[in-house]
Amino acid sequence: MSLIGQQITVVGAGIGGLAAARALALRGASVTVLEQAPEIREVGAGLQISPNGARVLFALGLGDALTAAAIRAEAVSLRDYREGREVLRLDLGRLPAPMRYLFLHRADLISVLEAGVRELGVRIETGRRVIRSDSEGLHFETGEVHRAAVIVAADGVHSKLRETVLGPSSPSFTGQVAWRAIVPNRWNVPPIARVHMGPGQHVVSYPLGNRDALNIVAVQERSEWAAEGWDHADDPENLRRAFATFGGEMAEILGSVEDTRLWGLFRHRVAPRWHDGRIVLLGDAAHPTLPFLAQGANLAIEDAWVLAASLAASDTPAAGFAIYEHRRKQRAHRVIKAASSNAWKYHLRFPPLRFAAHTGLRIAGRLAPD
Ligand code: FAD
Repeated sequence: MSLIGQQITVVGAGIGGLAAARALALRGASVTVLEQAPEIREVGAGLQISPNGARVLFALGLGDALTAAAIRAEAVSLRDYREGREVLRLDLGRLPAPMRYLFLHRADLISVLEAGVRELGVRIETGRRVIRSDSEGLHFETGEVHRAAVIVAADGVHSKLRETVLGPSSPSFTGQVAWRAIVPNRWNVPPIARVHMGPGQHVVSYPLGNRDALNIVAVQERSEWAAEGWDHADDPENLRRAFATFGGEMAEILGSVEDTRLWGLFRHRVAPRWHDGRIVLLGDAAHPTLPFLAQGANLAIEDAWVLAASLAASDTPAAGFAIYEHRRKQRAHRVIKAASSNAWKYHLRFPPLRFAAHTGLRIAGRLAPD
């Protein structure tokens, strides 16, 4: 099916929605993006873009803008919690473009994507909260209706459109909560993703491209429930109390936190079906993942590429949706499983890591040659 002139509506101007809008518009579609927020913005947090995601962003023609907004990661380093001693290092070497591993602020990636869709003439309508969809079209809370032949539901983990396709679902609490914070990088931490691992808890930190800041996500196992949305303010003292056994530089870094958000981590099922009639699910709307492998945004970006290619190679939208689901579903399941098992490793339940953390053994690996 040629996408030239094909009207496509994307719901959600997050990472997945904007990447899909760019991928579809590059193939000639006439794309409208509907976003509930009054303006396009992102929460203050960092993002790791791994080579799979970077490769797609380069293929979408955003390589230069991405490179300017991000810094290149040198390694992933697993450390013990008491002194911050390195126990395992995955050297990222000099990965050739476009296979880059990058750190950046989420708002900076959104800016790159937004500029990338606007330059192709994609229409973005903000303050447009979709509440449901039926044969008439997409219904807004204002009572207005938007008619669309093809709808990409990129409306995130609490997707209204997923409910339309599958009915309501009930996520389950994982028994883990997470704090996030951004602090000035007073320690000149190099571009390395550092995971400080302790019993039942871990802290991930890395510097943010162009911002002289450190992004922190601290995860703790806990039986009590905490709210799922990830923008609930919390007292930094609660974070410091929870990680009081973490020593070395990490203790200083946590000591510098002045503003933090706490949220509960919930497990959602991968959607058993990804499309229905005119609607197709993409990104977190189809396959929300836990943040332990830094792959949710990367998967959404991959989805965007595969969806556009699948539609372009099919005679009808329904056939394109089916190819897309077939190409993506197993991969999403695999990545989500790997992400879930990382918490277990980072919390020192994986015997080789526990042994290394307690004995000072150091393991090294390399992802790419220099
Ligand atoms: P979202 O980014 O959630 O975007 C959804 C958009 O839809 C939003 O703009 C929203 O306002 C809009 N919307 C929602 N409902 C409606 C509606 N009814 N009508 C209109 N608009 C609507 N992933 C990585 O790859 N690397 C990382 O390093 C990483 N770190 C993470 C750290 C944390 C702490 C967390 C929580 C997640 C992390 N992720 C990471 C996961 C990643 O953030 C998500 O997987 C990704 O943002 C999903 O993109 P999306 O476009 O599907 O959804």
